[in-house]
Amino acid sequence: MNTDEKILVTRSFLPPRKEYDKYLDLIWENHWLTNQGELHNELQEKLQNYLGVKNVTLFTNGHLALDVAIKALGVKGEVITTPFTFASTTHAIIMNGATPVFADIKPSDCTIDEERVEALITDKTSAIVAVHVYGYPCNTSALFDIATRHGLKLIYDAAHVFGVKIDGKPIGTFGDVSMMSFHATKVFHTIEGGALLYADSSLRRSFDLYKNFGITGPETVEAVGLNAKMNEFAAAMGLCNLRYVDGEIEKRHKITDIYREILRDVSGIKIFEDIPGVAHNYAYMPIIIDEKKYGHSRDELFDRLAAKNIFTRKYFYPLTTDYQCFGTEFADAKVDNARYAANHVLTLPLYGELPPEMAENIAKFIRSLC
Ligand SMILES: *Cc1c(COP(=O)(O)O)cnc(C)c1O
Repeated sequence: MNTDEKILVTRSFLPPRKEYDKYLDLIWENHWLTNQGELHNELQEKLQNYLGVKNVTLFTNGHLALDVAIKALGVKGEVITTPFTFASTTHAIIMNGATPVFADIKPSDCTIDEERVEALITDKTSAIVAVHVYGYPCNTSALFDIATRHGLKLIYDAAHVFGVKIDGKPIGTFGDVSMMSFHATKVFHTIEGGALLYADSSLRRSFDLYKNFGITGPETVEAVGLNAKMNEFAAAMGLCNLRYVDGEIEKRHKITDIYREILRDVSGIKIFEDIPGVAHNYAYMPIIIDEKKYGHSRDELFDRLAAKNIFTRKYFYPLTTDYQCFGTEFADAKVDNARYAANHVLTLPLYGELPPEMAENIAKFIRSLC
């Protein structure tokens, strides 16, 4: 396999230029660029319908949405969470003055191990912040049961699960609130953007407050907030992309099946299969490499592919507990499964426009090294 062109792990979807231009004309006409604009409000409503949740509040990015959720729900003390995630999840907890307590993950799908969660609860615990990983949902019913019995808030980092459903139930309907990211690298994007999804309509006011400096009127500031509003150019991109997201997911599904078909029986390569009852979004194509069986380590495979102009990603690596900024603060966390996954996982190129033949070639190359 020889590719002249660099193949990156993902490539942002862009809608037909003309469709975006139409929205630009509207923005010039309205002369309204941000602060609850017409396009912002339209996207918010369309996403409520598409995602099947009662309430959506839009933000400038997913991270600030999560930050606001943690603030607005009054989370403090200890928060049980996972280290197998992006920097955002752990940082949002710490920046709000709470202490993350790390539970290990399940090797089967890399989501937080609900059995470990319960054992970590103390009288200081106020919340669980769980992460749906690669498009695979957490055990939502077990986590709901634990959170309810112990009176804990349940917040999901749902950045990876746009459009996912469990037995027909939209992913954003689980827990107190879910954060979605609409970053350019996600299945659905608004260039930069994010949202909170929630059932309890009484939360809307505080989310709106926190995302706009705590301002409630021309002369009243009720809370210490931040600036996390989505602008009209981002909302316009979202309105365009929403028309194409079903097609994007369908294409990703086909490409995922090609990878799976070729890699399924390769010794030392674990792939993730569909879960019965789950409508998947094919956000990522992770493989877990057992170097003893496969003959090459994850890092070797990463290098071999990079030499062919195929750029994969060690995602998530390192664990957030192992970040330099934390020193040895979380060295005692018992997160062996998470550390194994972080050291052995590679996500392969996956996006709607990836030519199926390219996925086939990448998979066959990986197989040929065994
Ligand atoms: C992308 C992502 C985020 C952050 O989203 P931004 O919109 O980039 O701020 C948070 N958590 C996870 C798991 C992510 O993948």
